[in-house]
Amino acid sequence: MDKILRINMGADGGPQVKTDSLGDYSGHGGRGLTSAIVAKEVPPTCHPLGADNKLVIAPGLLSGSVAAMSGRISVGCKSPLTGGIKEANSGGQASQMLGRLGYAAIVLEGKPHNGSLHKVFINKDGVDVKQDNSLCMLGNYDLVDKMKAEYGEKVHCISIGPAGEMKMAAASIAFSDMEQRPTRHAGRGGVGAVMGAKGVKVIVIDDAGTSARTPADPEKFKAANKEFVAGLKKHPVSGEGLPAYGTNVLTNVINEAGAYPTNNFQLGRFEGASKISGEAQAELENARGGEGSATHGCHKGCIIRCSGTYYDKNGNFLSKQVEYETVWAHGGNCGIDDLDAIAQMDRLDDDFGLDTIEMGATIAVAMEAGVAKFGDAEAAINLIKEVGKGSDLGRILGNGAAVTGKVFGVERVPVVKGQAMPAYDPRAVQGIGVTYATTTMGADHTAGYAVATNILGVGGSLDPLKPEGQVELSRNLQIATAAIDSTGMCLFIAFPIMDQPETFQALIDLINGFAGTNLTADDVTELGKTILKTERDFNLRAGLSDKDDRLPDYFQKEQLSPHNITFQVADEDLDQVHNF
Ligand code: SF4
Repeated sequence: MDKILRINMGADGGPQVKTDSLGDYSGHGGRGLTSAIVAKEVPPTCHPLGADNKLVIAPGLLSGSVAAMSGRISVGCKSPLTGGIKEANSGGQASQMLGRLGYAAIVLEGKPHNGSLHKVFINKDGVDVKQDNSLCMLGNYDLVDKMKAEYGEKVHCISIGPAGEMKMAAASIAFSDMEQRPTRHAGRGGVGAVMGAKGVKVIVIDDAGTSARTPADPEKFKAANKEFVAGLKKHPVSGEGLPAYGTNVLTNVINEAGAYPTNNFQLGRFEGASKISGEAQAELENARGGEGSATHGCHKGCIIRCSGTYYDKNGNFLSKQVEYETVWAHGGNCGIDDLDAIAQMDRLDDDFGLDTIEMGATIAVAMEAGVAKFGDAEAAINLIKEVGKGSDLGRILGNGAAVTGKVFGVERVPVVKGQAMPAYDPRAVQGIGVTYATTTMGADHTAGYAVATNILGVGGSLDPLKPEGQVELSRNLQIATAAIDSTGMCLFIAFPIMDQPETFQALIDLINGFAGTNLTADDVTELGKTILKTERDFNLRAGLSDKDDRLPDYFQKEQLSPHNITFQVADEDLDQVHNF
C-alpha cells in the first residue's frame, strides 16, 4: 500500500489519472494521511466546493491485512459545513479492497469544466474514468445495483446520492457494506458535496486477483492478533453489549442518565425512549423473522459485529439496523417514538446520501420553528423527501441545522463550527461538551468519546455533571482517537483498550508485527498529537480561532432537566485543550 492515486477532474481534455509514490507521506494512513494531504495541499481559505479543494479517501495503516477490525476508511477535505478541515470515517468494504489493491489514498483534484458526472472503475489492472450523465440524481441504492449489473456482482462502491450532486452541506459519501448495500456513510461535514463538486458520482472497486497484505513479522502479527481478538471478546461493551443490541443499546442508558437530547435539546429525557431502544428493536427484528437480531460486521474482519438488518412489517429489507445516533436524531430529538418511521428515514438518508445526525438535528430545528410538530413522523419523512427532491425548502434543510436555524430565526441551534451535535446533551455529559467545543471537526462525539468515562465507567469514571477533570479527559481521548483513526481500526476498540492494558499492548504489537516497527505507547500518543496539531493549524490558517471552540451560549444559560444543570466548563479551560 505504497501509492497514491490522483485523479485530476479538471484537466484539459478530461480527467487525468496518475499514480504517485507516498513520498513525504510515508508512514501515514487513514486520518493521519487525509489530514496531512489536506493540510499540505489545500489552500486553507479556498472555497470548499472549488477546484482548489481536494477529496482524499484513505484506508488505514492496517487495512487490507487480516488484522481484526482494520477495515475503516477516512475521508478528508476542507469541509463545506465547518469551513475547517474534515475527517469523516466509515465502515464498508472499500478500505480492505483499496488496501489489497495497494492504494494508500485516492485524491480527487480539480473540477470538471462542463459540470458533467463521472464514474471511476479501479481494479488490479488499473483505473478507468468515464463520463456518465445517465447516473444523474440516482439514489445510492439504484446506483449500486446499476454498477453491479455493469461491472460484476462482486464489486463495491463509494458513491454519492442526489444530495451530493446538489452540493448540500449535509451530504454524505456512501460505502457499500458486506451485502453490497450503500448503508455505511462518511456522514459528517458535507464530504458528499465535495465529491459532487468534483463531478464524481461513484468509484467502483473490484479487488479480484489480489490477496491480503502480508505482515513484516508474520509470527508476531499472528500472536498479537489472537491476543487482541481475545481482549475484544472479553470486554462487556465490545464482547456483549454491542454484539447483542448494536449501538442502540445506548438509548436506555443515555436516557436514564438524563443526557438524551429531546425535542431539539429542550429536555434530557424522552418519554418514548423505551419504544425505540435497542432492546425494543431486537424484539421487533426477532418477531419479523429474517436474520432476527443477529448482528454482523460492516466489513470483513470485524469481530465486534454491531451492525444488523431492519425489516419492515412485511418482512422485507428496509434498511440496516438503525444505529443509536440515527435513532436519536430522527427519534427522541424530533419527539418521534416509532421505530418503523425512524428506519424509513434512515433508508431515505442513505439513499439520498445524507448525514443522519445533521438531518435529525435540522428537522428538530425546523420543528422548533413551527415547520412541523414535534412527534409528527409523517411530516419528518416528508421533509427528508423535500431534501431529496431539491425543492427550495429541501435545499435549506439539506444545508444543515445552522443554515436552517438562521433561515427560520431559531435561537436554539445545537451546532459547533456549523456542525450539529450528536446524541448526548453536553450539559449532562460535560466531558462530551468539551469535545464538541474543541475538536477540530465541529461537534463530533467520535473525536473524543468522553461518554465512556462520564457515563459508561470505561477508562475510569468521572462525574458527568461536574467540570473538574473534563478538559484533561477530552484532550487525552482526542489524541488517542486521532491515532486510532489512522490505523483503520474501528473506534469501538477503544472500550477494551482503555480498560485492559494487555489489549492495548496487543494493538501496538499488531502494528509493529505488521509494519516491522518498534513503536511504543508513547509513539502512538505522539502520532495522535501530531495529527491534531496539523488539523488545528489548518483551521487557524482557514480563519477559525479559539472563539470557535465554544458551545452556543444557551447551553450556559438554559438549565437541562432532569438535573437542572448548565454547561459548566469555563472558556479559559476550553482554551487549554490544545495546549500540549
Ligand atoms: S464494530 Fe460496528 S462499526 Fe465497528 S467495524 Fe464492526 S460493524 Fe462496523
